[in-house]
Amino acid sequence: MSSPAASEPAPSRRRFVKTKRVLVTLLVLLVLAAVAFFTLAPGIVERSMNEIVEGPQPEVTAETQKLHDSLTILDMHSDTLLWKRDLLERSERGHVDLPRLQEGNVALQVFSSVSKSPKGQNFDSNSADTDNITLLTFAQLQPPRTWSSIFERSMYHAEKLRDAEKRSDGALRIVRTREDLTTLVADRAAGKDVTGALLSLEGLQSLEGDADNLKRLYDAGHRMAGFTHFFDNEVAGSMHGEEKDGLTDLGREVFDEMERLGMIVDVAHASHPAVAEMLARATKPVVSSHGGVQATCKVNRNLTDDEIRGVAATGGVVGIGYFDGAVCDTTAKAVVDAMVHVRDLVGIAHVGLGSDYDGSVAVGWDTADLAVLTQELVDRGFSDADIAAVMGGNVQRVMTEVLPAR
Ligand SMILES: [Zn+2]
Repeated sequence: MSSPAASEPAPSRRRFVKTKRVLVTLLVLLVLAAVAFFTLAPGIVERSMNEIVEGPQPEVTAETQKLHDSLTILDMHSDTLLWKRDLLERSERGHVDLPRLQEGNVALQVFSSVSKSPKGQNFDSNSADTDNITLLTFAQLQPPRTWSSIFERSMYHAEKLRDAEKRSDGALRIVRTREDLTTLVADRAAGKDVTGALLSLEGLQSLEGDADNLKRLYDAGHRMAGFTHFFDNEVAGSMHGEEKDGLTDLGREVFDEMERLGMIVDVAHASHPAVAEMLARATKPVVSSHGGVQATCKVNRNLTDDEIRGVAATGGVVGIGYFDGAVCDTTAKAVVDAMVHVRDLVGIAHVGLGSDYDGSVAVGWDTADLAVLTQELVDRGFSDADIAAVMGGNVQRVMTEVLPAR
């Protein structure tokens, strides 16, 4: 007869089994929490940052919708590639994806690469010492090379767009040359359902201080670049930086190389001295891809009248954003107010779209509902020809002038 002690585990073994069970349970809970975090967190973060707010927007008439559907529309700025979403699928969050670009009749969307953003980001003064994007690269399970290298983040954003293009069966096409752009516009005119995409850099911190990295980013497809984002970097001072200086020697070298390669220079976010230097240096059209004007929204990130004149003198375009920081409101009326100011100051040829969709901004409509902006232009007495220029014609002209021939 065996004693109970022989058939049951000894007390120490019993304790071990119990501890093991607790550990396994904890581990399972931890894995579940991690799965929940990596699945849900990116969506929760984006939903809270890229909102669509209700507001008084014009009612689109059938006649305006017809006009809108006949336009060639180009938008100079969206940060969609920053977020963990499939560009080919219609999303419940954010502002841009291929189905919504198609619905809004957008011919070409510029997709920028946001590679670094300081903690406590504000318009007045930010240091380059902290970065929120690093956490986002973990949370979105991006490739490890993007965790510590901001250059790799911009390479990765280009890969994401190329991957979406490959899977799109010809519905999404990356534009790299003047010839690509001409073909895109011709194909759309012939009834082909194709949407163009052009890569840009939001801040040349992506170079990591190495001029040779410009060519690598160009080869990856990037064709436009803002020199700075929210902090001063190796090429220029930001209007939101600590020093807000002009261009550095590296900045001047990169500027000339961009013009040589056929990349569009974007003065958005650059400090006033840096903008002045870029405008004086330019031999090709320069853009302000997304923002507003001081005259209608006195925020330090917006262009002064002198800067608007300077952009126009290069043959460039001022892209008006749809968010509060650019136009001090989220209505189509406020966007058109800024456009009217640019038109009256330098002419209709220098007004364009720069939504800043998916750029951690709240806007009044997503790209599917872009016709509200066309309606506001109609209501404000813009002619059909002027509407065509604002909605895309002007940006098409700049791209045709600056992009490499083939
Ligand atoms: Zn921006």
